[in-house]
Parts: sequence; C-alpha cells; structure tokens
Amino acid sequence: MPGDHKILVAIDGPAGAGKSTIATRLAQRLGVPYLDTGAMYRAVALLALRDGLSTALDEAASARVVELMENHPIEVSSGVTGNRIEIDGDDVSFEIRTPECALMASTVSAIPEVRQALVPMQRRLGLENGGVMEGRDIGTVVFPDADLKIFLTASAEERAQRRHRDLVGSDVATSLDDVREQQNRRDRQDTSRSESPLQVAPGSVVVDTTDLSLDEVVERLMAEVANLFPQGA
Ligand code: C5P
Repeated sequence: MPGDHKILVAIDGPAGAGKSTIATRLAQRLGVPYLDTGAMYRAVALLALRDGLSTALDEAASARVVELMENHPIEVSSGVTGNRIEIDGDDVSFEIRTPECALMASTVSAIPEVRQALVPMQRRLGLENGGVMEGRDIGTVVFPDADLKIFLTASAEERAQRRHRDLVGSDVATSLDDVREQQNRRDRQDTSRSESPLQVAPGSVVVDTTDLSLDEVVERLMAEVANLFPQGA
C-alpha cells in the first residue's frame, strides 16, 4: 500500500454469496480489520426479538425498535478474524446468528432511523483503520469512495445450499426449504426497500461466485487490489 494509506474495500451482495468468508480472508491477506455491518443490524434485530416484536412492523413497532436501540448501546470491535458485537456490554456475537435474527435484521434495516444510527458508526470504524467492510450498502452509501468496490453474487440455489451447510455446521436445525424461503424473502426485502436498497454500486467489480472456489474468489480480489496499487500492494 502506498505510504500510510489505509485501504478500504467495500463488499456488497445478497445473503449467501460468500461475503463474510471472503471478506474475512481478504482482510487477513491485507492485514486490515474485517468489518461485518450485517452483525450490527442483527444486534438491533435481537433487541426487537427479545422485546417480543414480530417481523410485521407497523409504525408503533418501528418506533419501539428505535427506542430500544437508543436505550441499549451496541458496540462493535473489529478484528482481522472476526467481529465482536455487544449489547449493553454483553457479547451477543453468537446469539445474532440464528435464521430468525437474520429475517428480523432484514426487517429492522428498512427503518430509516436504524440506518441513520448505524451508518455513522460504520464510517467511523472504516476511517479509523481502513478495512474490508461487507454489507448491502457499503459501496452505494457508506463508502461510495472506497478504494475498491466489489459486488459478490451467486445463483439463488447455490446461495441457499451454502447457507444451509453453514447453519447445519453451526448446529442450527433448519431445512433447505426453509433456508430457500427465508432467503427469497430477505432478497425481496433488501432489494425493494426505499432506504438504501441492495444495488450494484457504480464502479463495482461484479464477481459471480457460483462456480468459483473460495480461494479463486480471494485470488481474484487480491488481483484487483494489486491493480489499484501496482507499486506497493
Ligand atoms: O449480512 P447479514 O446476512 O448478516 O445481514 C443481515 C441483514 O441486515 C440483511 O438481510 C440486510 O437486510 C441487513 N443489512 C443491511 N445493510 C448492511 C448489512 C446488512 O441492510 N450494510
């Protein structure tokens, strides 16, 4: 990297495209923090679930989510290998990984006030040390001037199968049909919401990972980084 420039890579894409694993590996290779913005929306979702809210959020329930978020500080510490998420000082990094929390995250993330609170935190984290930041709106909203913008995608069936494998591997009991259905719902919600919908940011490199191994994707992204800084990457 030239001088003391702190590289910032934005990785966006739908659920199951391999963003987390690839972003983690890329951050390790570059020696910069890995920043998982989805975990922050999942933490807000956990607050909503603990409060007994359902994913059918009316205006009053949305206001309640904002109130919960204001009363229960969410802290994120980013590392090269993973992120630690805390609510009120308690580590919830594992608790936020359930399918229910993912679906609720997709719902609460459409509330404008939720995004208005989390985006500045994400910008602060990225500006401090650079990093590989993944989410849905990093290249479009959070860091439109990132050094490198990547849009990772894969076929819907491949994404569902990967997510199902991951969940089963983490001992979460779920069927492939349920994963497919939840994924379709999240894809629909994330791309159609009026606030920061999932879109390919202008200037992004689009990588379809359907037929690529993790190593192949990481090498492809490392080549993109090398192109950016031919002298010092
Ligand atoms: O990436 P992950 O599956 O953990 O994200 C959970 C949900 O959080 C997504 O379905 C999306 O609705 C929301 N999200 C978002 N903006 C981000 C990251 C995640 O709206 N930058």
